[in-house]
Amino acid sequence: APGLYFVATPIGAARDITLRALDILLSADLLAAEDTRTARRLMELHGIPLGDRPLVAYHDHNGPAQRPRLLAALAEGRTVAYVSEAGTPLVADPGYQLGRAAIEAGAQVFAAPGPSAALAALTVSGLPSDRFLFAGFPPSQAGARKRFLEGLADIEATLILYESPKRIHRLLDILGETLGRTRQIALCRELTKRFEEVIRGTVAELCEVIEGRALKGEIVLVVGRGQSRQASADDMETALREALKTQ
Ligand code: SAM
Repeated sequence: APGLYFVATPIGAARDITLRALDILLSADLLAAEDTRTARRLMELHGIPLGDRPLVAYHDHNGPAQRPRLLAALAEGRTVAYVSEAGTPLVADPGYQLGRAAIEAGAQVFAAPGPSAALAALTVSGLPSDRFLFAGFPPSQAGARKRFLEGLADIEATLILYESPKRIHRLLDILGETLGRTRQIALCRELTKRFEEVIRGTVAELCEVIEGRALKGEIVLVVGRGQSRQASADDMETALREALKTQ
């Protein structure tokens, strides 16, 4: 059916693309991509010719300028496929404004679901998966970052954060200050890639493990939920031990 298709693409392993995603990329009248080079490479890899179909760059900066063209194609009853650089569009990636505009213009919007680092990380984290909150990238500025984490401290759900390897050490420090050093976390790095690694433990343990270690690549941090106000005796004991250790 004609409409706007948000197509998920691999987050590492090139074969993590669905057959339906390939069908859509093969048959769309117009392709739009956050990064046209990545999109071209992906299509080449899977033997999908672009032919004379337009491949339009659409990202946060040129969104307002490019939307009219994409909306016009939709209004003509064409099929538009959008891919972000990796994973699921709209998940810490462009696409929201485009989807919104398409819906307002009366176009159909479809998902071709597939990989997303957030769900891949939750899957391997070993942390409760019944309730989770995806919070995206924390702000980079120290004050804003602290307020952001304080705002998440009492949420009774597993938290999923994206962070750059440059800032992960500082994020763990401030996580300890705001959410406590006994929180269970899982640092998930390079998921589905060759150097995939998951480090699990409390904030305090992870700080120790990664101290002085440069962590390269892409990282998702999964944070266990806060204890309810009535902490168990065991939790109290661990908290006390941790507090004494850090004095
Ligand atoms: N749309 C993507 C998705 O669905 O996951 C996310 C795009 S966001 C701009 C990029 C961030 O996702 C990275 O900084 C990292 O936090 C996370 N990420 C992407 N691929 C990853 C991978 N293979 N392993 C761990 N984290 C990854």
